[in-house]
Amino acid sequence: MDLSWIMFGYKGETYGRLVVRDAMLLNGRGTPPYGPVDILVEGGRVSEIVNVDAISLNRYKPKRPEGERVIDARGMYVLPGLVDMHIHINIDDEKCGPEGAQYAYNLCLAHGVTTIRTCGFGTDEKLLEHRRLSEENRITAPHLRVLGSWPAEVQTPEEAVEAVHKLKSLGVDGVKIIPRPHVTVEVLEAMADEVREAGLPAGIAIHIAQNSELNALDVSRACEDMVSIEHTYGIPQAALPGTQSFPPDYNYSDEVDRFRYDGYVWHEADQYEDEVEAVLDELIMNGTVWDPTMVVYEAHRDYERAKNMPWHGRYTVSHLWKAFSPSPGSHATHFFEWKTSDEVAWKEKYQIWMRYVRYFFENGGTLTTGSDTSFIYQIPGFAIIRELELLQEAGIHPIDVVKIATTNGYAALGDEERVLGIRKGAPADLCIVDGNLLDNFKVMYGTGVDRYANDGVTVTHGGGVRWTIKGGALFDCGELLREVEEYVERYRV
Ligand SMILES: [Zn+2]
Repeated sequence: MDLSWIMFGYKGETYGRLVVRDAMLLNGRGTPPYGPVDILVEGGRVSEIVNVDAISLNRYKPKRPEGERVIDARGMYVLPGLVDMHIHINIDDEKCGPEGAQYAYNLCLAHGVTTIRTCGFGTDEKLLEHRRLSEENRITAPHLRVLGSWPAEVQTPEEAVEAVHKLKSLGVDGVKIIPRPHVTVEVLEAMADEVREAGLPAGIAIHIAQNSELNALDVSRACEDMVSIEHTYGIPQAALPGTQSFPPDYNYSDEVDRFRYDGYVWHEADQYEDEVEAVLDELIMNGTVWDPTMVVYEAHRDYERAKNMPWHGRYTVSHLWKAFSPSPGSHATHFFEWKTSDEVAWKEKYQIWMRYVRYFFENGGTLTTGSDTSFIYQIPGFAIIRELELLQEAGIHPIDVVKIATTNGYAALGDEERVLGIRKGAPADLCIVDGNLLDNFKVMYGTGVDRYANDGVTVTHGGGVRWTIKGGALFDCGELLREVEEYVERYRV
């Protein structure tokens, strides 16, 4: 195996006994934080959680764990590693240099993301090799759950069965599909049955393109709890009595059209509120997951904001910047013609969309967090933290947002080891944040936050995910980010 792409080297540190001392604990199950606690990590697992708050110390006089490495986590919050349910690893893209995948892995780990679900584009075989090396703690990378890319040429149920067999023998964890117009309900049902039969734990991720004949109800009925609906496409469409009211010259292949008119579909669907709620109720009943990836569309409601985020200069590599820049010849770069009216439509769309995201949550639906990086000025790690902020903007309590970003993801991936969050015996995938993320998710950005003292003058810079523990190995997030900075400098054009 050629490992020359791992230019940054392996940065994990493993200890016989690793102690995280005096941390506030948020277990990712929707329960409130408590602490401080001492957490002992041994053999890649959480082996002890000891309460060391004043009452416990006084009443029970607990024996505090010792270890070769002790992390002072006073003032820090510990939560389960985050899950990015929708990421594209540019493994074959020559422009990225050999370390394109490593760049993304570092940014993920530096933001506490310890599991990623790859959604196609890369060569499946290479990603599967990364999955193995990551499980063995030989590369600096989150756990990979690899979705095989659905072959675009499949047109019949028989071909669908054959395609699942092929992917299964490759060893993928699930399937990512963007149904083209020729993918019928029958093809989808054949695929879903076969994925279920094959026992692929991560199931199916579907991006229902607006030119597909399928909508969210078709998908949910065929695939039930095996599927996550990515983005928002297909959900408002399922509530409309017919097609969206496209103008006569609409062309799906013209991305200005595609994204401009997508800015209005929720306005239209919202006139059929009962129908939208009925669609969501049925998704919830079927156990269908919704991974809204709100972050990747944010440039539509404020292009300048997305383009001018403070981390781009240091952490967005030149070839990605070029790939994001307006161009009629590439995907998701339609901002050469983006107007005030488009942004106004999208600002309103987000309001409506978020209202239904909250409805889905409040009625028991399983939401997850996906970044869809790297597209539209969003880069790995940073984008997932922004998605947490957007879920809060949708009206969901930060404690629940953390559940959505952690154990909901593990549940959707069929990851039984991690689905119960931080507890004794669980794999040690932990995110240690310098500050209270429930008070302000911005403390989790790699660029950190400025803290102003009461004297009105003194400013200290802090925040960020300070440490990430993945598979029991400890990563210094500052170090991971410095490597990214060096890589960005090396490839600056
Ligand atoms: Zn995607």
